[in-house]
Amino acid sequence: MTELLYQTDSYLQEFEATVTGGDGEARAILLDRSAFYPGGGGQPADSGLLTVGGQQYPIARAKKIGEEVYHYLAANALLPPVGAPARGQIDWERRYQLMRTHTALHVLCGVVFRDYGAQVTGGDMDPLKGRMDFEFETMQKELVQEIETAVNREVVNAHPVRVAILPREQAFQIPDLIRTKINLLPEGIQQVRVVELVGLDLQADGGTHVANTREVGHIRVVDYKSKGKINKRIYIEVED
Ligand SMILES: [Zn+2]
Repeated sequence: MTELLYQTDSYLQEFEATVTGGDGEARAILLDRSAFYPGGGGQPADSGLLTVGGQQYPIARAKKIGEEVYHYLAANALLPPVGAPARGQIDWERRYQLMRTHTALHVLCGVVFRDYGAQVTGGDMDPLKGRMDFEFETMQKELVQEIETAVNREVVNAHPVRVAILPREQAFQIPDLIRTKINLLPEGIQQVRVVELVGLDLQADGGTHVANTREVGHIRVVDYKSKGKINKRIYIEVED
């Protein structure tokens, strides 16, 4: 089982760990703890570097399978021995861009629900650009500028971003979480990680975010598309 260091400290760029196994066929290294984000919830997995016994292993991506995070080698190499101490470094420039983009999508989500009552149904992102899908029948071209102005106001309003891991029963008592389809969580999950942009947005969420909305920087609403009468997709970019 890999301890997920990014869940409690999204700013952790380097970490010490121990090699607990490997998959020779998949060319993947397993660790007892990791700061690599393994992908999920629309946020792509981290890349980076592992150093074991003086040898460097560039990591192309990570993926969580069961309770383990697999760190996939970018090039062919012999796997390091089990029990060896390892040092991990994530590609921080890319990750921090993803944290800003991910948080920008929460700002969008919070503003669109507050101002238009539209619920989010999905989302996806790359560094500095993302999209979100809403049940937003009244979305139209004229609202693009209005939404852009409102989201940037909330960036500047500097909402703190808080992360908590709550027992399932307690999370189910939070009305704001119920609207974001918490009921879709599998039965077996006993703890729910909750991400709150204080005063703006609250979601069950496993991703990495910045600590305050002011770190996001300027957001542009670049496009939107109708995916049917009700479903609308909004595209944003975060300025570097
Ligand atoms: Zn999130």
